[in-house]
Amino acid sequence: TGSNGGAETQAVTAGTAPGFPPFEMKEDGELVGFDVDLLEAVIGQTDYTLSGWEEFEFDSLIPALTNNNIDVIAAGMTINDDRDQAIDFTDPYYTSNQAVVVRSDGEFSPESLSNLADRQIGAQSGTTGESVVDDELVGSEITESQYSAYGNYVLAIEDLENGNTDAVMIDVPVAETFAANRPVEVAFVYETDEAFGFGLRSNADDLTSSLNSGLSTVQDDGTYEELTAEWFAE
Ligand code: GLN
Repeated sequence: TGSNGGAETQAVTAGTAPGFPPFEMKEDGELVGFDVDLLEAVIGQTDYTLSGWEEFEFDSLIPALTNNNIDVIAAGMTINDDRDQAIDFTDPYYTSNQAVVVRSDGEFSPESLSNLADRQIGAQSGTTGESVVDDELVGSEITESQYSAYGNYVLAIEDLENGNTDAVMIDVPVAETFAANRPVEVAFVYETDEAFGFGLRSNADDLTSSLNSGLSTVQDDGTYEELTAEWFAE
């Protein structure tokens, strides 16, 4: 009776990629974050139930979704044309730009992409930050080997701290969270006007529209505001 016509609820499995604070990260072995709380609140407004969370590297999330290993992606994922070919997205729930993060020792303070010339730059594989590096830097300001790709942004930031790279390209709210907890800082913001959405299989129209109405409910009833205050407090 999985046809949504009756009173029976359908369970969905969510997928995420921890290491992207404050959207999703591990604290004392537990998966926590804004995306986790927001998706759970949104699903709570629908006829669906959440059966649990599965963790992947970021660039394995879309294959996991299209292979039916998970039913929804909640991973600070930017809605863009490339991904739209493979999957669907809910309405946007957060907007962001890219930040260039450096060590906070003051030794290197770039102000623009051209200041990154001949430096070693890190980003997480499969991200829009990687796309900015590929499109705007590789082949012009830096060589291919001056780009370091990581499976996880935590590893990218650790390599920056260790001096193995000079800068990391990463979403602004995540950059600010790392900067609040580690010896790194935002050097400058590169405007990309990105919007995050939850990702769904393109044939999951009922789930997509249910999540969209759940999202607008939690945006109207104060839940969304509470969660942003909790996770993005300055
Ligand atoms: N917003 C970026 C993207 O969608 C990064 C997401 C992430 O690393 N979790 O590519």
